[in-house]
Amino acid sequence: MDIRKELVCLNPRQKEAVLHTEGPLLILAGAGSGKTRVITVRTAYLIHTGVKAGSVLAVTFTNKAAKEMKERVKAMIKGENGSPVISTFHSLCLKILRREIECLGFRKDFTIYDTSEQVSLLRNILSDIRFSDKSFKAESILERISRTKNDLVPSGAAPPDKPIEEISAMLYPRYREALQSLNAVDFDDLLLFTLKLFREYPVVCEKYRERFRHIMVDEYQDTNRVQYELIKLLAGERRNLCVVGDDDQSIYGWRGADLGNILDFEKDFPGTLTVRLEQNYRSFGHILCAANGVIRNNTRRMEKSLWTERGTGPKVNIFKAADAESEAEWVADRISMIRFERNVPYEDFAVLYRANIFSRPFEAAMRSKRIPYLVVGGTSYFEHKEIKDLAAYLKIIANPSDDLSLLRVASAPKRGIGTSALAVLSDFAQSNSLGLLDAFGKAREVSALSQKAAASAEALFGLIARYRDLFNKGRGTGMGKLLKALTGEIGYRDYIVGLYKTPEAAFKRVENMDGLIDSLSYYESAEESPSLHGFLETMALTELMKEKEEKGGRGVTLISFHSAKGLEFPVVFIAGVEEEMLPHRKSADRDEDIEEERRLFYVGITRAMNELYLTRTEHRSRYGKEKSSLPSRFLQELPDEAVKKIERFENLDPEQEKVYAKKFFANIKAMFEN
Ligand code: ATP
Ligand code: MG
Repeated sequence: MDIRKELVCLNPRQKEAVLHTEGPLLILAGAGSGKTRVITVRTAYLIHTGVKAGSVLAVTFTNKAAKEMKERVKAMIKGENGSPVISTFHSLCLKILRREIECLGFRKDFTIYDTSEQVSLLRNILSDIRFSDKSFKAESILERISRTKNDLVPSGAAPPDKPIEEISAMLYPRYREALQSLNAVDFDDLLLFTLKLFREYPVVCEKYRERFRHIMVDEYQDTNRVQYELIKLLAGERRNLCVVGDDDQSIYGWRGADLGNILDFEKDFPGTLTVRLEQNYRSFGHILCAANGVIRNNTRRMEKSLWTERGTGPKVNIFKAADAESEAEWVADRISMIRFERNVPYEDFAVLYRANIFSRPFEAAMRSKRIPYLVVGGTSYFEHKEIKDLAAYLKIIANPSDDLSLLRVASAPKRGIGTSALAVLSDFAQSNSLGLLDAFGKAREVSALSQKAAASAEALFGLIARYRDLFNKGRGTGMGKLLKALTGEIGYRDYIVGLYKTPEAAFKRVENMDGLIDSLSYYESAEESPSLHGFLETMALTELMKEKEEKGGRGVTLISFHSAKGLEFPVVFIAGVEEEMLPHRKSADRDEDIEEERRLFYVGITRAMNELYLTRTEHRSRYGKEKSSLPSRFLQELPDEAVKKIERFENLDPEQEKVYAKKFFANIKAMFEN
């Protein structure tokens, strides 16, 4: 595909946006109108007109979206020099900080702490200060801290009025100091520190302004305060900034996204060219009609009217199931049926739900019907003990100050360094102003330590130092082999097998461990300049967005509304369209929360291209108790002409099944004959 062909395919407004290459540009348009496509083509077009590829920056919401955009742009600019920078805010900031963080008092080999590591760190702090009130959970305190960071509240600005806020405000500085002493940062810091860097070191900021001369941001409606400030600083006086978004799809208010960023863009950047796209290329008319009917009930929005040339298509189906299990079963049956009937591949289906915990009945139903599926998010692969353990080894190898990872590896597998020995070593480190790892190296000098524990601590120190050398020498090659050798040397396989009662459970764990080794090898073969830090970063960022690495065969996608943003699927099922689920019970009181819930539903509906099914239950168990459920208030907002209620549980009867099976084999036969 070359760029000229792409341009011809665009509608006049899309083209106008692509060709407007200087000055602020806002593309404000509804779902499926080609916003993402416009910035993809615009990136290629800029390069085609002679802009240096490396000076074009496109910021996307997920790593997956970045990857897809990179591939598309690459296909359009083949032959041109270099490639544009296409990444998420977090990975962009990470790259900048790896170069510049020393200004802020960190070393370049800093570690990124994920949510569970943040929780452990905060728990350590709470126990250090002997804070014993169990009513304050570490997770809630961290949520407050994160909010403070992302809203850019200067410390001490607003007097906290709730006890939890008071406690969070008190702990924030300690938490920050603890991270700094570990030479670690959390996800919020990636953005916040980059902003701090740009604000306090204008020379550094200028360097990146010179570098990124054209900036584009997708899903702008979900940017928060920090991201807004960052972009504004980067764009500088040149103001070659193009943002695209849809106020109706802002669904990250709970994480600090500020709808004002997109609504006030024209005010913030005078002289903005605003382009509105109204043709929807994704969905059939009935689906679009349903989406419009729902979103029109929001008051705080820009009026838009979306239309399609695709025709009306089938109506939106609504189905009521008895409970969550039969809801999932019905969905699975429908999927089999549609696949048989119309030869639709599994990867064309998606099941959307409110939150990751609702994936379970669907996973069970898919398994029992032998339908391949992949869950995006949920109990992540990265949360498994074996993955966390091995990642901790890699982290302490990469960053010798990462005490939290060292504490983890010290007892995985057990090596005779118990909690009291660890406490002694920590005290020794503190009183001699040493890092914990160095204290391990000098363990024999610590009189309070048993000989066995001292020898073991020193051996661990030696092991880490040796592997650090090996990783450094390899310069990003042979890392998978090194990790394999390391697991062999520490007897990790036997250790993990010993922890689980059934051979199946143990096998799963070993499989995960081998999977990590494989993905390290895969990473180094796919990356241009691989490094251990690079691998750990990829892991952390994938975890952050709760994304799923796709390898090999694909199946039905099970995904939450939030993760489905920006994606499209031919056949979509939206489950749990009930009060308390959608809108969520926590959001039922305030109008603005209801509006965000409605946007969530709108995002869900607009993922569907050809067919859309909405399901709900009569009963759902909550906290172990069966409760009857009411249909979501949003269902009443669907225009009658666009929907059809499916009254009966339409399972496949055996006769029908035979007909479908016959058809299916005939299709297969035809495929071989062709
Ligand atoms: P969302 O708001 O959900 O992120 P979007 O506005 O970013 O949607 P895209 O994902 O860019 O929309 O486009 C939706 C679909 O329409 C894609 O399959 C895209 O390839 C297709 N599309 C966009 N513009 C055109 C066009 N001019 N001609 C044909 N297809 C198009
Ligand atoms: Mg998009």
